[in-house]
Amino acid sequence: MTRALFGGSFDPVHNGHLNLVKRIREAVGPDEIIVVPAGISPFKQGAEYRPASGKDRLEMCGLAFEDMPYVTVSGWEISHSGVSYTIDTVRHFQREYPEDQLMLLIGGDMLMSFDRWRNWSEILSMCTLCAVSREKNSYPALEKKAEELGQYGAVMLLQAEPLEISSTEIREKFSEYSCYVPENVVKYISDNGLYKQRGR
Ligand code: ATP
Repeated sequence: MTRALFGGSFDPVHNGHLNLVKRIREAVGPDEIIVVPAGISPFKQGAEYRPASGKDRLEMCGLAFEDMPYVTVSGWEISHSGVSYTIDTVRHFQREYPEDQLMLLIGGDMLMSFDRWRNWSEILSMCTLCAVSREKNSYPALEKKAEELGQYGAVMLLQAEPLEISSTEIREKFSEYSCYVPENVVKYISDNGLYKQRGR
C-alpha cells in the first residue's frame, strides 16, 4: 500500500490544500492520504502568531476532507506537545506501517526550503517527496530544486495549475477570502468565532 503524509498548520484548511490532495490522488494515486495538522509548526513560532487551537484545526480538516474517502485526518502531531517536526511524524508512520511505501506531500514553497528542515536527508531516504507548485511561473525553479534533492532520494514534481491562496490571507481578511474555504469550514469558523480579531 502507498500512504501519503500531508502536514501543515491548516489554520485554516483551504481550497489550495484540497486542490493539492486531489491532484496528487489523480496523478500519483496513493491508496491513502493522511492529513496531519501540526501541534506547533517549526515555521510558525513568531510572537505575533496565535494559531487556532489544535482541536479546531483538526475539526476543520475533518470537515474539509469528509467527501474524500481516501483521506484520513490524524491527530498524532496535535496530541504530542512541543514543536512538530516532520522527521518524527515520518518515523511514527513508518513504525505504524512498516510494509507500506510512504510519500510526503508538500507545496512548492516548502520544496524550495526543504533542505533546511530538520533531518531532511533522512526524510528523503524514508519516503518519496511529492511537490505541487503554489504559484504560477514557479515551475523552472522548482524543477531545479527537485533535481538537486533527487540526489538524496525520490522526488516528484507535479505540474498542475496552482491555486494561489494561503491561510495567512484567509486569517487576515476572512470576508474577502472565505470563497477559498469549503462551505462547511466557513460555517465552523463563524459558529466558533474564529479569525475575528484579524479584521473580519
Ligand atoms: P500560512 O499562510 O499560514 O503559512 P499555508 O496556506 O501555507 O499557511 P500550511 O497549512 O502552512 O498552509 O500548508 C501546508 C502544506 O500545504 C504546505 O506543504 C504548503 O506548501 C501546502 N500548501 C498550502 N497552500 C497551498 C496552495 N495554495 N497550493 C499548493 N500547496 C499549498
